[in-house]
Amino acid sequence: MNIGVLALQGAVAEHIRSLEAAGAKAVSIKRPEQLDELQGLVIPGGESTTIGKLMRKYGFIDAIRDFSEQGKPIFGTCAGLIVLAKHIEGQQGPEEPHLGLMDMTVLRNAFGRQRESFETNLNVRGIDEPVRAVFIRAPLIKAVGADVDVLCEVNGEIVTARQGHLLACSFHPELTDDANLHRYFAEMVKQRQNVAG
Ligand code: GLN
Repeated sequence: MNIGVLALQGAVAEHIRSLEAAGAKAVSIKRPEQLDELQGLVIPGGESTTIGKLMRKYGFIDAIRDFSEQGKPIFGTCAGLIVLAKHIEGQQGPEEPHLGLMDMTVLRNAFGRQRESFETNLNVRGIDEPVRAVFIRAPLIKAVGADVDVLCEVNGEIVTARQGHLLACSFHPELTDDANLHRYFAEMVKQRQNVAG
């Protein structure tokens, strides 16, 4: 089972380490052709406008939409969540979506100044142990469509959600030693493979 980490920006090595700790084989992805060898894909955090621009420049938009259409799991973390969303709200108003795959409205940089960065334990539906999470200028999920399951909230705000083969969280699970969420994603990839044969 190969899971790729989109290597345009962000904590690629940390995601690879967490995926390996979760028992998956992880590879860094720099060209769209490499998607053919993968059963799952992680889109890391960073800055979503920059990641979106680089995705357009290197031909990743259509390639990842095609990957998703095949039902192959995708996990977006922080800026990666923004890149997955159908609707994006910036501090200045609505922004163009990037991949526009997941039926949710996200608000960028949603945590106030004192809480721009913080670390906490979260209860995520479907995971028995607490998940250690690092929030860095994190987005929030303001609203989700009927097909989206909310997996975790902080102070009543959604920070983790899943729509079938798509998983998104507004924090950085890769910046801790806790591989629980990566294990959850690896399990999604494994289950999809069992179905797809
Ligand atoms: N604030 C970034 C954005 O809006 C996301 C932050 C992150 O990925 N840590 O793109």
